[in-house]
Formats: sequence, structure tokens, C-alpha cells
Amino acid sequence: MSSIEGILLRKTPFRDKDLICSFLTRRGQKVSILFYGVQNRIGKNVCVPLEIGNMFRVMIKTSGRPSDLKSAKEWDYLWRHESISKNYKTYCNLCLMLEICSQVALEESFDDDSSENEGLFLTLSNGIYLLDKFEKEQRLNIHAHMFMYFARLMQFHGIFPVTTNCIYCDKILISSDVHSFIDVEGGFSCKDCNGDVRDFPSDQGIKFWREIDRTKKIKFEESYMLDVCDQSILDMAMNYLASHEVIKISQLKCF
Ligand SMILES: [Zn+2]
Repeated sequence: MSSIEGILLRKTPFRDKDLICSFLTRRGQKVSILFYGVQNRIGKNVCVPLEIGNMFRVMIKTSGRPSDLKSAKEWDYLWRHESISKNYKTYCNLCLMLEICSQVALEESFDDDSSENEGLFLTLSNGIYLLDKFEKEQRLNIHAHMFMYFARLMQFHGIFPVTTNCIYCDKILISSDVHSFIDVEGGFSCKDCNGDVRDFPSDQGIKFWREIDRTKKIKFEESYMLDVCDQSILDMAMNYLASHEVIKISQLKCF
């Protein structure tokens, strides 16, 4: 391997002036690379700053044993966001997307040619590109955007909730018949199986059912069509990912 292309997920200070940077490659795997002498270095020698969320091509030094940490020779942008860092809230959500992706991704195995994790790269790259585009155009609905991101991660992990039938009796679900979201079962119950909706109002469960189902039918760039304007069903999506051990909320630094 002489170069990698990937999105910068995380930077960790190392020794006095060095950084260890973790990238998500096009194959959807994580690789860590050592950058010598770049920390706090200002001036003409650092031509391309290592900002998270940007995509880089990094040329790798070929010396060293295969098991050693790879070190960077030179690097350049392939793509960079322009508007995300102008808005603190949007930038925080970028950090959240990157941290979650970092938890989800497996370490790169260079002798493995499989492309089964490419979906993760596409989800993240699409998510960051659209975050920047909508921020620039001043039409970002951050809750809807993040809901879509979580829904795509559910699909990637094969834990997308069953929305078509009641998880208990298999009856076909329509909105007037949905009772609540059953997290551990990965689906929804109907009113017959889960009490009377008048006694147990489950507006949130019904809304979650409607919007998560809608994410299957629209593209990522159409997230503005989702009716997600607050944190409530976004939290349900995140807790669902956590309960299936896709993410570990307590280990998220930016949360
Ligand atoms: Zn049922």
C-alpha cells in the first residue's frame, strides 16, 4: 500500500508535535496513520491542515514492518467542507457523525479485498456532503438530517425496524393500528397486541413508525421531507442503535 483515500474521523495528539489520525477509507474500514511534526505547527510547511470531516489522499511511507503504525509522507485534499464549521451546532453534529462512524467501523485489513463495508463510507460521505450543502444554502433541518443518518446506519447493520407487520401477530400495519415501538424486538406492535392506545398514548411510537418507514422510500438528500423537528424520535433512533450495541453512547466524547 502506498496511499489511502479517506475521510478524517479523529485526531489524537501524540508525543510533542505528532498526531495520530484515523480515517474511514472508501472500503468503509478504519485506518490510523501517524503524522510527524504537524501539531501546532503554523507556517508555510503545513500546507494542508488536517481538519476532521474532510477527505484526503495520504501517501504512506513504505519503510517499516507491516505491523508498524503507518506514517504519512504527504497528503492533500480530495474534498473539504466549507460551511459546516461556520455554525457551532452543525459542527457538533459533524463531530457526532464522525464519532459514531468511528465506533461502527472495523479496522482496515489490507490483505482483505472485500467491499462489504462500502455502504458505511457512502453513508458518511453523503451525510457530510449534504450537511455542508444544506448549511451553505441555509436550509438544514439538523434533526431530520441526523434521523436519516441513523436510519442508514440501521440499514447498514441489518437492524432496520420491521414496519410492515405487527411484530407479535404479523398483522399488516396501518397508521391507525400502530401501538408502540418494541425496541428489543426491532419492530412495532398493533393495538390488539399491546393494549388500548387510549390508555397508553404512544404518539411518539406512531411518529417513529411513520418517519422511519419513510426513510426507506426517499433519498438522503430528501431528508427535508421527514417530519422530524425535535429531539424526541431522534433519541429513539439513537437509543435503538445503542440497545443493539451498534454504538456506545457513554463513550461518545462530543455527546
Ligand atoms: Zn399485533
